[in-house]
Amino acid sequence: MKAVVYSGSSAKITIQDRPKPLILEPTDAIIKLLHTTICGTDLHILQGHVPTCTPGRILGHEGVGVIESLGPAVTTTFTIGQTVLISCITSCGTCHFCRRKMPSQCSSGGWILGNTIDGTQAEYVRIPHASFSLHALPQSIDPKVAVTLSDTIPTAYECGILNGHITPGSTVAIIGTGPIGLMILQMARNLFGPAITVVVGRGQPRLDTAKAMGADHTLSVLEGGEEAVISSALGLTIGNRGFDVVIEAVGTKESFGIAQGLVGAGGTIASLGVFGESCELHLEKLWNRNICLRTRLVDAVSTPDLLQIVESGGISPGFLVSHGFSFDQIHDAYEAFELSSKHGALKVVVTMPEPHSNGVS
Ligand SMILES: [Zn+2]
Ligand SMILES: [Zn+2]
Repeated sequence: MKAVVYSGSSAKITIQDRPKPLILEPTDAIIKLLHTTICGTDLHILQGHVPTCTPGRILGHEGVGVIESLGPAVTTTFTIGQTVLISCITSCGTCHFCRRKMPSQCSSGGWILGNTIDGTQAEYVRIPHASFSLHALPQSIDPKVAVTLSDTIPTAYECGILNGHITPGSTVAIIGTGPIGLMILQMARNLFGPAITVVVGRGQPRLDTAKAMGADHTLSVLEGGEEAVISSALGLTIGNRGFDVVIEAVGTKESFGIAQGLVGAGGTIASLGVFGESCELHLEKLWNRNICLRTRLVDAVSTPDLLQIVESGGISPGFLVSHGFSFDQIHDAYEAFELSSKHGALKVVVTMPEPHSNGVS
């Protein structure tokens, strides 16, 4: 089978022929991919920032596919040929962490796909602990859009919305205009009725998208820098008192600094950026402000709820899919995602050749 492989040194992917994966444990499933996608985390791997991912690894932790085979101990009602959503988080369902609804830390799972075991940017993938790591995909959800339910949507919901403790009437600042930042904006507005939403970003096209999606105000760091953005944003709150909820969805010194500048007394910073360097926490300014700082790696425990919210129309993730490519255009897909501002890309969906087509359509 064809697979996208991390080659280590060149910060580029290679396409290789690999043997089709086999069931290794009775709890495994083999999935034939229909659609997969590329994540910011894949780019971090290519830049050498993820030491757990070693050269030779098949990349990818997001996707939708059909069940090709099931181990004898897969206890759910999955059937061969069923269309399923692959969770970015593998969960054994029984360890200390899984039983505390924290499978991101699962002792034999967590984020392993496309990291410590071969991932979803291939024709087939082996999914360990299939009972807890796959979800039946309702027919009403477009399988191409559903790839956003592997990681992007649960991350926006669990690490942003839930960790930020948004309630009706909250003042909300979102730092970051990538797919997750924009999804958080839609979820906050559709599901929680915030008093005000302010989106902080860099490039104007993405800020325009946020404005079109209903952000009350958008601010660009490129105009005046960090301090100017903080003072403009605070000016949008009553008496410059700051925000109840600040969601940091970038993962840099600058974004973390802005988050600390925007949080109001009693407020919450939900930080979900992937940080590649240490950042200062200004306790000399925050120690007496009753704030809360939360971090989280997505647990994907909300995926069943999110599938229902998408089905009912509560949120509409279709806007996230900006580009579609076939698997033989994977290099173009990586380029579009890497140079996202040039290409206007949010999520790029990569579609596998039709199953059993044998070249006949
Ligand atoms: Zn991802
Ligand atoms: Zn576990």
